[in-house]
Amino acid sequence: MSSVETIDIDILRRNSGPPRNLVGLGRAELAAEMDEFGAEPFRARQLWQWIYHRGATDFAVMTNLAKGFREQLAERYELRRPHVAAAQVSTDGTRKWLLRFDDAQEVETVHIPESDRGTLCVSSQVGCTLTCRFCHTGTQRMVRNLGTAEIIGQVMLARDALGEWPSPKDDRQLTNIVLMGMGEPLYNFDNVAAAMKIVMDPEGLAISRRKITLSTAGVVPMIARCGAEIGVNLAISLHAVTDELRDELVPLNKKYPLAELLDACRTYPGSSNARRITFEYVMLKGVNDSPADARELVRLLNGIPAKVNLIPFNPWPGAPYECSTDAAVAAFSDIVFAAGYSAPVRMPRGRDIFAACGQLKSASVRAPRSAA
Ligand code: SAH
Repeated sequence: MSSVETIDIDILRRNSGPPRNLVGLGRAELAAEMDEFGAEPFRARQLWQWIYHRGATDFAVMTNLAKGFREQLAERYELRRPHVAAAQVSTDGTRKWLLRFDDAQEVETVHIPESDRGTLCVSSQVGCTLTCRFCHTGTQRMVRNLGTAEIIGQVMLARDALGEWPSPKDDRQLTNIVLMGMGEPLYNFDNVAAAMKIVMDPEGLAISRRKITLSTAGVVPMIARCGAEIGVNLAISLHAVTDELRDELVPLNKKYPLAELLDACRTYPGSSNARRITFEYVMLKGVNDSPADARELVRLLNGIPAKVNLIPFNPWPGAPYECSTDAAVAAFSDIVFAAGYSAPVRMPRGRDIFAACGQLKSASVRAPRSAA
């Protein structure tokens, strides 16, 4: 085949098909894409800054790129966000977005403003396979993992809504990210890790790994990788201090019981007294909230740089539990605190718009296997 023909085919291929979304590509992928497109390597770096530092959604604004090059880019590529199917604001300022992806699957993302920070709660899967008994998302049949672009897209979209481009150095409304939305992030680790690497890049969104927390129900074999590859803060959804009860509340415990889970925490890369592992504990009335439970929790945490986060149970229609009384929560917190662990009670946020922990659920269901 002559070189002329090769070029023709190349041009044809580039100009055919739907535009490719560059949002979601990591550094190496963007560099490879630009190389294939025939652009100089430094162009990939300029594009990176436009996409992830300035939040550009249109090639026309990229004034340090030649006009002709911008036009060529616009013919072949796009800079797209997930589609917002609904947006709600709670009386307490919490915002929730229902996002719809190209295949019509939906997830929710939540922004929680506080006086000194703002936290974005990001989803990692459409639905969830874990069926934790107290969690609304667990009642939704798992549909699929989110792609890297769909995960980073949640952060980009929040930044759009908050007007935070270019990435501000100080006074941000989006300072922290928690992977605590729908899904189990350690069941979709590769895409979560790729998205977090983009989020952490200092020439992009520039959110430090110290401000990112990944919450897991306890996928033990993935915990060490999480620490080694992305080094974010770890949160463990513990919720019970015996295997018997945890098997019931968090069925994943049958696969990875408490002793194995706590061992993985003991050796979590990067944890220290300055960087503790958070143990989340949902307060369920008469189920896991006794003083004896609190004392056993303290015993289990021995030797782990830990802090405890007590989460008042957030109700949802048909939930089989009730929230512990304020007195039970306070007594539990006092016991843990007296043993030397911080044990704040997580304030429910956005309950009125079903945006609080464990309340997220979208209408997506798994497609039937066959049309019949
Ligand atoms: N799959 C991950 C990410 C979900 S994070 C995990 O299990 O950690 C959501 C947090 O909210 C978890 O700690 C979860 O156990 C907790 N949660 C779920 N349902 C809840 C509810 N109804 N009320 C309070 N917290 C809940």
